[in-house]
Parts: sequence; structure tokens; C-alpha cells
Amino acid sequence: MTVETKETNEVKEMREAKPVAAAMAHIDDYAAVVGQSEIGALRTFAKQLQGHRVKMVNSTAVGGGVAEILNRLIPLLDELGVPTRWEVITGGEQFFAVTKGFHNALHGAPYEGHDDWFEIFRNTNEENRHRMQFDEDVVVIHDPQPVALVNARDGSKSRWIWRCHIDLSHPSQEVWDFLRPYVERYDASVFSAPAFTQGLAIPQYLVSPTIDPLADKNRDLDPEFVRDVVERFGIDPSRPILTQISRFDRLKDPVGVIQAYRMVYRHNDCQLVLAGGGASDDPEGEAVLNEVKEAAAGNPDIHILNLPPWSHLEINALQRASTIVIQKSLREGFGLTVSEALWKKKPVVASAVGGIPSQVLHKLTGMLVHSVDGAAYQIRFLLSNPDFARRLGENGHEQVKENFLITHNLMRYMMLFLSLQKSN
Ligand code: UDP
Repeated sequence: MTVETKETNEVKEMREAKPVAAAMAHIDDYAAVVGQSEIGALRTFAKQLQGHRVKMVNSTAVGGGVAEILNRLIPLLDELGVPTRWEVITGGEQFFAVTKGFHNALHGAPYEGHDDWFEIFRNTNEENRHRMQFDEDVVVIHDPQPVALVNARDGSKSRWIWRCHIDLSHPSQEVWDFLRPYVERYDASVFSAPAFTQGLAIPQYLVSPTIDPLADKNRDLDPEFVRDVVERFGIDPSRPILTQISRFDRLKDPVGVIQAYRMVYRHNDCQLVLAGGGASDDPEGEAVLNEVKEAAAGNPDIHILNLPPWSHLEINALQRASTIVIQKSLREGFGLTVSEALWKKKPVVASAVGGIPSQVLHKLTGMLVHSVDGAAYQIRFLLSNPDFARRLGENGHEQVKENFLITHNLMRYMMLFLSLQKSN
């Protein structure tokens, strides 16, 4: 199989297929996963917030972890009686090139912005501010792209929260100096891990990102369906499968994954699946995909799948079919894909960056690595020690169940809304 064939034939069929309607779970369905008492506690909190209106704003409706979370969090908040509206900012190519540059620089990459970047950022935020209304009780703005919408708060009674999903511990000073005055106009900020924060003049809260165990991305699947998906992509289900699911983004280091795979492949029979797609706020995807294809050239056991955004069931199936799941990011926010794999009891080999070490406890719920060599070594170790690998996956499932399920997210957000309401 060649990479090009995968891209143009089978995946094209999926692109053209109608999206499968998501199986929408209701709040009481989660009792089977987390217990009735947790659902009871959610309802008790929600009662105190009845009718409290919330708006959440981010920069993309599909692709990436934030959209993944909002897609489920918002209907569930609504169902609990906290009416929540989701809006996505609009912006041109230039704006998203700027925000991707900011994103990389906030993650510690060198900032290479042009003179007009700050102005482009301000102008697009202003256009969105004029287009949108903010009369809800709470406005939650996700990530840096729409941070300047806070200019709309003048004279309004709404409480404003900035929810930062990225690791701000080593930002480019120039970008952070520009963004910080906006951030400090909020009533509160929310980070995914204590180590991600910056000293701020506003309160900071901790909310871990979470996965939805009943969404198409994570719910149990019929093994026949899993097999069928794998075979449809030309992958052999009877041979070991190593998988990384990620947007084609350099910070996810897909080329590093291929390098590690090539080292493993010299000794162990296995296939590599790199499955990803784009996000409308990420203009670099196509270039990175080309780099990945080039790095994979000549090896028919490397499967590069550029998937459409509604491929939740297919991604679920690929994760379930995997022998080992890899997340070799160079920088990371939280890394939802790790929890997704752990929930499916998969042994995970992942970089010790961003939120990954809170999910992967080394040698307990997965293996942490720091390099291509390290990734290759741990993959080979797990391929040779399947019982140990299985135990990692089982422990990982418990770790996610304890800490990273959507019911926790609902609870933390409602607690935050209540505490801000009381501080009025
Ligand atoms: N994802 C997806 N399709 C893709 C690539 C990723 O649905 O082609 C999902 C993935 O399953 C996960 C989210 O997007 O739920 C990625 O979140 P993560 O926190 O791992 O990374 P981010 O993209 O936000 O940096």
C-alpha cells in the first residue's frame, strides 16, 4: 500500500460519506460509569445555577481538544439547566496565521511575528466583538485567539473567565507582554495544570480537561466494527499496530514518531498508523502532512490517514485496534488523546511534556519518554512484555476514571460559576 493510495481512495470515501450522527448520551446515562451519587451531586450544584446563562467562545468548531470538549460539555450543561451557548470567532487566513504563531511562541518556540501581527490580532477581535453580544451571566473565553473580546465587558454585569488550555510556563515574552493586559481584565483564569500558569493579578483556578466516555470517540465498540475499520484502511489487524492520533502539527512531532518507528521496525514486525486531520484555526496542517508523507516514503507499513472531522468512531476504532498508542509531542497542552487511549486500556508511550505526566505515571499507567531513541526503546520493551503492557493499560483506565471524565469537568465549571456568582 502506498501512502498516496490511502489518502486518495479510502479516506476520500470517508470524506464524502455523510457524518454519522453522534450518539448523544444524557446526564443520567453517566451513572453507569461514575455512580449515581456523582450524578446526584451534579444535579445539586446545577439547581443552584438554574437559569444562569453561560456563553463559551473559542476559535474552531472542529479539530483539536477544545472543540472536542465543548461539543459534549455544552449540551450537558444545558441539560442540567444551565443554558450554555457556544460561539466560534471568525477570522481570515492572516488572523489564524498570527494566532498559530502566537500559539507556538506561547509554547516556547521562537516568536517570528511581523510588525502588523498585533494589529491584525486586535482588529479581528474587535470585528468579532462588534458582531457578538455578551449579555450572559458568565462568559468563558477559551485560549488566546479570542482573548481580546474582553473589551466587550465595559459596563456589563457578566463575569468573565479566561480558560487557557495551553502550557504558559515558558512563553515568548513579547507575545505574553501583549496578551497579558487582556487576560488581567478577566475576573478569573483557568489552567489545566498548576505548572502551566503565569503569575497573574487575577484568581487562577485549576480544571483538568476531560474525555466523554459515552461519546462516539470513546464508547465501547463492537470488535467486528473495529476490525472492519482497520481493514478498510488497509491495516492488518493480525499484526502489531502502533498509533498516534493527532492534528498534523510539528509540535506533535509526527516525523519523530516515524523515526522511532523505523528504529523499532528494524527488529520487530509492526505497522504504524498516523491518523489526524486539520483544525480550521490551524493553517500549518497541509505543510506538515507533506513533511510526514516524505518521512514515511518507501515503507508500506506506515499508514497516514488524513481524516475528516467527523471521524470519531473511526478514531475510536483505531485506538482500540492499537497494540500501543504513542503521543510523542514536543510541547502539549493537556493531550486528550492520551486519556482517550488510556480509557481504552491501551499501553501508552508518550513524551513527558504539558499535561501528559498527569495522565501517564511512568511505569504505572504508561511509559514517559524524552526523545526518539527513548520512544523506540519503550515501544520495543512493551512489544516484548505484553503482560506488563496490559497492566499499564488497566491502571491507565482507572487513572482516567478517577480524574479525567467529563462529569469532573461539569462539576468544576459549575463550582467556578457559583463562586463567581457569590463574589458579585
Ligand atoms: N482528533 C480528531 N481528529 C483528528 C485528530 C485529533 O478528532 O484527526 C481529536 C483527538 O481524538 C482528541 C483531540 O482531537 O480528542 C485532540 O486533543 P489534544 O488535547 O490531544 O490535542 P490538541 O489538538 O488540542 O492540541
